[in-house]
Formats: sequence, C-alpha cells, structure tokens
Amino acid sequence: MSKYLIANWKMNLPPEGIEAYLANVCAADPRDVALVVAPPFPFLRHVVQAGAVSVAAQNCSDQQSGALTGEVSPNMIRECGADAVILGHSERRNLFHEPDALIARKLSLAIATGLTPVLCIGEDLRVRDAGEVSRFLADQLKTAAVDALGDAREVIVAYEPIWAIGTGRSATGAMVAETLVEIRQALERFWPSRFASAPILYGGSVTPDNVHDLVAHGTIDGFLVGGASLDSRKFLAIHAGMR
Ligand code: PEP
Repeated sequence: MSKYLIANWKMNLPPEGIEAYLANVCAADPRDVALVVAPPFPFLRHVVQAGAVSVAAQNCSDQQSGALTGEVSPNMIRECGADAVILGHSERRNLFHEPDALIARKLSLAIATGLTPVLCIGEDLRVRDAGEVSRFLADQLKTAAVDALGDAREVIVAYEPIWAIGTGRSATGAMVAETLVEIRQALERFWPSRFASAPILYGGSVTPDNVHDLVAHGTIDGFLVGGASLDSRKFLAIHAGMR
C-alpha cells in the first residue's frame, strides 16, 4: 500500500516563504512516502512547477462550469497540474455547511476528472463520548459510497477526529489503530471495491513529537498535517519519523 504525507496549508502560506519551503521539501528523499502539498488555489501551479512533490487542491466544486461565483472546478484543478483533491474536510463540513450529498457529488466528479480524492472523515467529541465513533464513521463512508469509486486509480481516506484538528490534542497511536480497524471494516461493507487498497491516513495535531507513537502500531498509511506542515523543517521531521 502506498504511503502519503500531505501538507494542508489551509488558507495560510509558510512563514519561511513558498520558495524556501518548496526548495527544502523538494530536496528531501521521499523514500517510499509520497509527499503532497495542498496550497490555496492561487498557488497550485506554483507548487506544481517546483516539481518533486505531488500537489492537491483543498476542495473542488461538484460542477465543471457554470454561474457559481467563487467555485473552482475539478477540470481547472487538473489544468493547474494538481493530481489530488481533499474533500469533506471537517472545516468544509462544519464552517461551510457542506452536506454528505454534496461531498459525494464532488467525489464522483473528482474521480471522473482523474483527480485522486482524499476523503476526510472524523467524529466530534460528542460522538466519541457517546461511544458512537464506529457507527458515525461507517455512516460517513456509506454516504460517500459513489459508483465512481471503482473507477479511481487511488482513493485515500483521511481519519481526522474533529477534536484533534488544530487543537494540539492528538489521538494516541492506540486510539488511531483501533479506529482504523473499524474504518477498514466499514470499507469492506460500504466500499468493497476499495476495501483492501484504500490507504487510510490520520490527521489531527500531528507533530514531530507524536509521530513515533502514531506509527508504532503499524497500521497508518500516512498523515494529513495542518499546522505543523507550514514549517518545512517540522514537515520533514514528521516524514523522517515515519521510518
Ligand atoms: C487538518 O486540518 O487536516 C489538520 C490535521 O490540522 P492540524 O494538523 O493542524 O490538526
């Protein structure tokens, strides 16, 4: 199974500057890990031109064109040279009220356009405290069980518990390992075409300090990193910790 390390810059740019950041990250030996940078839309081409890393958009429209002010289509993202797109991030679901049905349409169109989708799923604290994580994540995967899944070269799932995103409170390696087993079981049920092949990443306050605990259980196929990915040294230290 391929391993991934994805830098989600969100609506930020690296304080050290894009050029310096990309020079550092592109100089790294990726070994068996695909390094992916997800910048804001206007910087997609910039990162593509730096070469050596894969490039993801942070979102896309569920339409290829139309009177949809402020939207960006999968075709446009492809034209910039990006290979992948993050979909269903909890910030999109919660701050921008993206419903499951919209995310499912985006997923279908992204796959039809040749983009590798990175589908984010994850529970909030209320769901975790109620002991409903497994059911909740299975439901999120069920609603994203689109026909196009079987056509994709690769579909990546990112388990991102909402209570761990940007909070400095990461899940432990043991917690993630247990949840990834449940996600794999849900994939078997709802995404049979991707059951064995979909890489499952973890995201939520990953840093160079906790990466060792997270990989110690051997079940994680990589990470989606927000805050710590804005500093190339931290991002590369997480990469080094994936060994
Ligand atoms: C994210 O936004 O996908 C994320 C995991 O952020 P952070 O690493 O900052 O928690």
